Amino acid sequence: MGKSMTDMVDSLEINGILPDEEMRELLKFRNKEITKYIFDKAYAVKEKYYGKNVYIRGTIEMTNYCKNDCYYCGLRRSNRFIPRFRLDEDDIMQFCDSGYKKGVRTFVLMGGDDYSFTENRVSKLISMIKDRYNDCAVELCLGERPSETYVKWFQAGADRYLLWHEAAGENYFRKVHPPDMSLLKRKQSLWELKRIGYQVGSGFMVGMPYQMVANVIEDLNFLKALEPHIIHLTPFIPTAHTIYESERSGNGEMTIYLMAILRLMLPRTLITADPALENVMADARKKAFLAGANEVFASITTDEIKEYYNVYNKKLSRRNTLGDEVSKMRLKIEESGNIAPSDKGDYNFPNEQETLYGKVHNIM
Ligand code: SF4
Repeated sequence: MGKSMTDMVDSLEINGILPDEEMRELLKFRNKEITKYIFDKAYAVKEKYYGKNVYIRGTIEMTNYCKNDCYYCGLRRSNRFIPRFRLDEDDIMQFCDSGYKKGVRTFVLMGGDDYSFTENRVSKLISMIKDRYNDCAVELCLGERPSETYVKWFQAGADRYLLWHEAAGENYFRKVHPPDMSLLKRKQSLWELKRIGYQVGSGFMVGMPYQMVANVIEDLNFLKALEPHIIHLTPFIPTAHTIYESERSGNGEMTIYLMAILRLMLPRTLITADPALENVMADARKKAFLAGANEVFASITTDEIKEYYNVYNKKLSRRNTLGDEVSKMRLKIEESGNIAPSDKGDYNFPNEQETLYGKVHNIM
């Protein structure tokens, strides 16, 4: 007799991996009972390594210019319908100040691949933030850059780097990216960021056009091999003025289910509940906190900037992101029975980590 679904989940928890055929069953035959079983296990594992903590990451959307043209993204260079903006250093420091007062201890500098934020300019910015807030982490999400630039930014004090792999298989990657983008380069960048010593974040969208179960298994296996410190999954949201604007959204329940699977595959990982979840399911982030997610993004900029950056045309998400997002997120975290400490909330390293550039992370 074949293994039951609960046996597969138990085996996933013990071994951190499943044979592809069993993972396929877990994904294809998801039901209420197995969902509850895996969510409860994922929450218990998250509690073991991080207690009740769910960390709020203060995002600063610095630029919505991008040199790339990913088929699914509203910031793609060929979208002529969104007003473009770039923040200056004074604005960014002001947002850090107000975020810090609200208890934020990680500043995420986000943007498209915008080379007007040069290596030197970003280095100076990182140093300014770290000089003013030495108890805070700086997380970068600025796309693909040369290895020397990653090193410079790390040496300036950046702690983390987010770079979504988006699609681990070549054929599928090609379906959602233009020919001038390279999966190999994306994967090499991720390994390089790890080698330098960053806490690295990666992930993919759930329910993208053309995505098959086999693609998702490939993505899970890639993340298992990479062992990123942060995992960021979002449901696919069709966005106006993109190639896939008329497609259906990804499924919120499936996205959270995959987060729970990843919590069992990589127990110490920080798993982000993305604001996009609220586009497809009410109170989705609260549900994600109960399925092993333990960090969340909250913009610390203005409603106007959020509007130009968050280009999904959905009211549900807008309602959740307007105004003081940090206080709203703190409330949601507390309603889920967790707490939102004013703590930079690094990855739970099992041992000291010697990195290429000599940085040694804390042992927790
Ligand atoms: S997904 Fe990233 S790299 Fe691609 S167009 Fe959007 S912002 Fe640019």
